[in-house]
Amino acid sequence: MSQVMEFHTTRPHMLKDSKEYQSQTLMGGLSGFESPVGLDRRDRLRALKTGDIGFVHSWDINTAVDGPGTRMTVFMSGCPLRCQYCQNPDTWKMRDGQPVYLSAMIDKIDRYKELFKATGGGITFSGGESMMQPAFVSRVFRAAKEMGVHTCLDTSGFLNRNYTDEMIKDIDLCLLDVKSGDEATYKEVTGGVLQPTIDFGKRIASLGTKIWVRFVLVPGLTDSFENVEKVAGICEQFGDAVEHIDVLGFHQLGRPKWHEMRIPYPLEDAKGPSAQLKQRVVKQFEDHGFVVY
Ligand code: SF4
Repeated sequence: MSQVMEFHTTRPHMLKDSKEYQSQTLMGGLSGFESPVGLDRRDRLRALKTGDIGFVHSWDINTAVDGPGTRMTVFMSGCPLRCQYCQNPDTWKMRDGQPVYLSAMIDKIDRYKELFKATGGGITFSGGESMMQPAFVSRVFRAAKEMGVHTCLDTSGFLNRNYTDEMIKDIDLCLLDVKSGDEATYKEVTGGVLQPTIDFGKRIASLGTKIWVRFVLVPGLTDSFENVEKVAGICEQFGDAVEHIDVLGFHQLGRPKWHEMRIPYPLEDAKGPSAQLKQRVVKQFEDHGFVVY
């Protein structure tokens, strides 16, 4: 069902004239963004709802990682899931991110747009779960499309209902995490439910968005033959929209962050998949007719 999203734009002066407004150039993962530090809670919530600001963990420029070509990947703060293998638990809480102006983000894309076009790249929103901030992300995507820049959303699809069909039409490519095909395993891996991912994948496929499916292979958790068959069955429901499937072997690169944050890490002793296991899973997807990386 097509829905029209109406944005009630926050008046820019509300942010700029806020008595607590400060300009600063954020360093590290947010270098180069002017951030509206000091907005009171009510102003922030209002601006978040309209998309005038977004809460961002970090950003970087990369090549052939989060979509085709050279891309600006923006890691948004906030995630409703708690995946056992999460590499970025520091993105879970939206309030831990830094507020960034919509206009600053669009200016940044404008600065890099010729590079994006020359390399077949563009902008990718990742996280955390960027679908927690649908107004900001979709307004950036709208602006990117107006500049002729390719757009990519890296998501679990868990917040399917946060996105209208109008918003989806501005997403060229979705990196869709299908974390499990089996409902019970999905719950165990993420703490959430599987159905919204399936619904989101079917909806974006029907609206013309291309899909690269991502499946994280964790021995003893997601690797059963039956589970992989169910993931393949879900991908089949997305039809020709699926360009390929990435089978990503679990690794322990995220472990230090769990330790630093003093969160009990459920995969403390888990190992990555053997070459033999990975080969079996790749073949399962190939037997369903998919291109697998
Ligand atoms: S969806 Fe991504 S960011 Fe959220 S918990 Fe899972 S792996 Fe981490």
